[in-house]
Amino acid sequence: AVARAPIWCPGCGDYGILEALRRALAEVGARNEDVVVVSGIGCSSQLPHFMKTYGVHGIHGRILPVATGIKISNPKLTVIGVGGDGDGYGIGLNHLIHAARRNVGVVYIVSNNQVYGLTTGQMSPTTLKGVKTKTTPYGSIDSPVNPLALALSAGATFVARGFSGDVAHLAQIISEALRHRGFALVDVLSPCVTFNRINTYDWFRARVYKLEAVGHDPADFEQAYKRALEWPTLDPYGKIPIGIFYRREDLPAYEEEVAKLLGGKAPIEAPLELSKEKISELMSYFG
Ligand code: SF4
Ligand code: MG
Repeated sequence: AVARAPIWCPGCGDYGILEALRRALAEVGARNEDVVVVSGIGCSSQLPHFMKTYGVHGIHGRILPVATGIKISNPKLTVIGVGGDGDGYGIGLNHLIHAARRNVGVVYIVSNNQVYGLTTGQMSPTTLKGVKTKTTPYGSIDSPVNPLALALSAGATFVARGFSGDVAHLAQIISEALRHRGFALVDVLSPCVTFNRINTYDWFRARVYKLEAVGHDPADFEQAYKRALEWPTLDPYGKIPIGIFYRREDLPAYEEEVAKLLGGKAPIEAPLELSKEKISELMSYFG
């Protein structure tokens, strides 16, 4: 694909995600022709247009079904999903649960700006309780989705959070996610500088701390879950952990299980055992 120049608002957190993703792909030695970036709908979902890899700019909330199809068809590809919190934790939320429990070998990066940016600032699934938006003029009364705790509960084998204001750290997390066997969720605190005046770069800088700095062990599920519960809240003294919360490499990826059913071959390599008669029969269903 030919990369276009990004068209996000100056200062948008998505620039940090784009830069971190490019660095991570270079770090793991991925070739553009072996990478597919799948997105949904939203500001961050424009990202595939700014990459030189293959890309699918799909439909709202369906990043993971499309990415799953690509990965199980041709597991040699590096498949990355990129989209926003509205796309992934709203309309697409159930797909996160299923991708996690299946352990599909997809790296799913969520640009979490806690607002619907593209549609100009409505409350999203991760908007914090009490925050005023266009659709919550008296402050949100909803408890926000906690994507990391949810992914851990669903059986995700790699769960991490980065901050687009710390590109080097985020690139390191994405590199590790790319090396992971199975599903990897990378939630990214990514300020929307135009429509979210609460969760700004300064707001996050005052709160984030790195898990690796406090001796967190990503193999410890209970510890990971407790850390995941440290946020989300508007608590002025609250802290937000970033880094790799949880990781286990001993479970097979979904595409490995699919290939097993096909005698060790990926669907793209398996012979299509369909006779002319069978094809005619199938076509007859469509009139
Ligand atoms: Fe980024 Fe917000 Fe602008 Fe969208 S509206 S490009 S999320 S700053
Ligand atoms: Mg959003």
